[in-house]
Amino acid sequence: MAQFFQTAKEKIVCFVKMKHYTEPVKDYLFLCNVRSSVYVALVIAALEIWMLVAVISGAIHGDGRHDFVWVLQHTVAYIVLLLTAIVMLIYSLLYQRGKVKNKAFGEFIRIFFTIVALSFGIYISYASSDRSGQVFAFLTMIGFCLCLFVWHPVNTFLILTASFGIYLYLQNSLAPLSYSIKVNSFTAYIVFLMAGINIHHQRRVEAQKDESLEKMNAYLRNKSLVDELTTLPNLSYFQKTTMEILQNEQTDISSFRFVFLDVENFKNYNEKYGFRAGNNFLRTIGQIVRDSFTGDIVARFSDDHFIAFAAADGLSEKIERTKNRIREVENSIQLGLKAGVYTPTERLTAPSIALDHARYACDSIKKHFETDIAEYSADMDGEFNRKQYIINNIDTAVEKGYIQVYYQPVVWAENSKLCGAEALARWLDPEFGFLPPASFVPILEEYHLIHKLDMYVMEEVCKNLHDAHEAGEVIIPTSINFSRLDFELSDPVRELNRCIGQYGISKDDIHVEVTESALLDSDGKLKKALADFRAQGFSLWLDDFGSGYSGLNVLKDFNFDMMKIDMKFLSKFSENQKTQPILSGVVSIAQNIGMQTLTEGVETPEMREFLRSIGCERLQGYLFGKPMTKEELRAKIRAGEYDTSELVNGKKD
Ligand code: C2E
Ligand code: MG
Ligand code: MG
Repeated sequence: MAQFFQTAKEKIVCFVKMKHYTEPVKDYLFLCNVRSSVYVALVIAALEIWMLVAVISGAIHGDGRHDFVWVLQHTVAYIVLLLTAIVMLIYSLLYQRGKVKNKAFGEFIRIFFTIVALSFGIYISYASSDRSGQVFAFLTMIGFCLCLFVWHPVNTFLILTASFGIYLYLQNSLAPLSYSIKVNSFTAYIVFLMAGINIHHQRRVEAQKDESLEKMNAYLRNKSLVDELTTLPNLSYFQKTTMEILQNEQTDISSFRFVFLDVENFKNYNEKYGFRAGNNFLRTIGQIVRDSFTGDIVARFSDDHFIAFAAADGLSEKIERTKNRIREVENSIQLGLKAGVYTPTERLTAPSIALDHARYACDSIKKHFETDIAEYSADMDGEFNRKQYIINNIDTAVEKGYIQVYYQPVVWAENSKLCGAEALARWLDPEFGFLPPASFVPILEEYHLIHKLDMYVMEEVCKNLHDAHEAGEVIIPTSINFSRLDFELSDPVRELNRCIGQYGISKDDIHVEVTESALLDSDGKLKKALADFRAQGFSLWLDDFGSGYSGLNVLKDFNFDMMKIDMKFLSKFSENQKTQPILSGVVSIAQNIGMQTLTEGVETPEMREFLRSIGCERLQGYLFGKPMTKEELRAKIRAGEYDTSELVNGKKD
């Protein structure tokens, strides 16, 4: 019951507009009224001019229908209404054009007009010699006031009831109204009341719809310019604003710098405290950057990268302050801040390119502990252009075949017979010549483009295996390198399955290599994908074991079929006394947990002998062959350089 009364109360409150409307709704309703006012004022003005002409010309031509007092009364009434309508028309037109902003004055004119119009209706009807016939003058005025003006329901009810009441009372006191006039007047009253309320209701709904659309648009506008996590401006805003400043003729561009900030070791923070705390810390860093660069334009670029368009004066102090404050907030992790600085050279410098330069300068000091700030200089141009070239041309390189897959043989330690090969990418560029993976793989990873390379290599390997099969040649099981980012940027499990299905390749002939460092900050997604590979029958190889920090933990947390022992273990093979015991220890750990082993970087027969003696199953290194094209490898096999008796041949159909 209480609930019923509560709902009813809310409905009544809402209906009679006791609840205040929001500003946009009020604005919308006001504008509706202003628009209506223009039409009403025009119609009234035209009507009154016509009436004035009719009354005055009637009096001049002396038709004798009305006496002088009647003519005077009517002329004054028409003129008052005409003038009020003209004032309302002028105000409404000016408001619509934005020339007048005062709403209170508009409200006043509207109310004033209503009073004048209703009084006019009553007066004309009352003053008329033919009173019941003039009732329509009054009704017309009510119509103007109610149908074209948006009163809220309470006002509609009060004004209408009062004016109808007064009018009927006066009419009746002069000459008693007939029953039918009373009934018809009451019906007209109800009709006007409903029309007034309906119009108001309809416009309020429209206004509220408009308001929510406006809110949504404002939200979207805001969202596209603000970084959601830190609430700092985002890259789009930064680019738009800096471009405007640069292109402004008044700006002295040499006094500004583009700054790229990279928080060092942020990864470690995430690892130590978790993802959510990491996000909170990024918010704090965003605030620190905003505070340190007061008066400059700052934005979040991505991840733990922030950017600024700042005055050159006092820039190093600002960077220093940012670094110190970040360290104050978190001092248990060795956090650092590297900054790359670029001076715009032309008014038309695109902010995105300026940021690329600043970022490049920042990257150039990544592992230099003693340097925090690097200015982009002309001698960086060569390397910078190559990096940009790689980023911008990976698609072309894949399409036009600049990327080639080389194969490095893998042999059995026992008898040096060929047991497989590793697919390694090479970029043979028409402009930059031969590019080794070290010069493009890290860049592609940094810019999240590595999956384009890896999916291409995978496709090529499957195609080559298919061709070998078709040609009845020996099938060389091949291992493919996958980057950790491949599992975020694409779906290697699905892609590899699609690929082997398409080319009719056996799962035994593909090995999946993932480097140890990839597992360091891996999430559940990568772990699941690796488990899926194994569950589906692919052999999973742990690449570069021992090169990172995680080493033994990785063995505990993940299941691999093969351990590829990093070639660093073989450096100083003869000089360092500890090398051999360490290697045999690693091999024995692998054996104890059911993994096979392959050692990379085997360059001498002594290494081979030793690895064989400690039970390492497979070997890879320059001693058995450098990475080479598939044609070279085939030629060497044909020339008898590799014993392929342990491998099977493809079958010609
Ligand atoms: P990785 O997978 O550990 O590949 C082995 C690297 O060691 C190859 O370098 C190979 O040429 C080199 N190597 C093999 N034997 C010897 C040796 O006896 N002595 C010496 N000094 N080096 C030897 P590469 O081809 O330059 O590749 C370097 C790294 O680039 C690879 O290390 C791999 O991590 C990455 N990489 C290469 N191709 C791809 C690819 O298609 N996708 C991905 N994601 N990474 C790739
Ligand atoms: Mg590898
Ligand atoms: Mg390796």
